[in-house]
Amino acid sequence: MRTVPGVDLAPCLELDAAAVDPDDVGPTLARLTTGWRLRIVGPEREVLLLRAAALAHGALDEEITTEITTEVLGTGVRTVYCAACHHPFPTTGTAARCPGCGTDLDVADHVSRRHGAFLGVPR
Ligand SMILES: [Zn+2]
Repeated sequence: MRTVPGVDLAPCLELDAAAVDPDDVGPTLARLTTGWRLRIVGPEREVLLLRAAALAHGALDEEITTEITTEVLGTGVRTVYCAACHHPFPTTGTAARCPGCGTDLDVADHVSRRHGAFLGVPR
């Protein structure tokens, strides 16, 4: 974590999504005061999960900026949120079987900011 001068007029805390566990976001945000901004940088899946954790711990959408690093865009691993049983799981591709309930899912382009995951729609 580091502050980024010049990114915004407000103080900004940058989180490396590949190195910060979403469970650590709550204590990190608790140290910040009103006016701080959060910048999350890293692989898509980790950025989405960290952003969801920040929102769950009270950060506002307007306080968060994200940057997906290009070197990891080709991995294709995404977190999918099963619409049938609400189980999130990592997968690749545009279709998957939910390990929670066994439902065959199509992976939609819709991303839930709340869950940090792509929506898995039952076939
Ligand atoms: Zn399921």
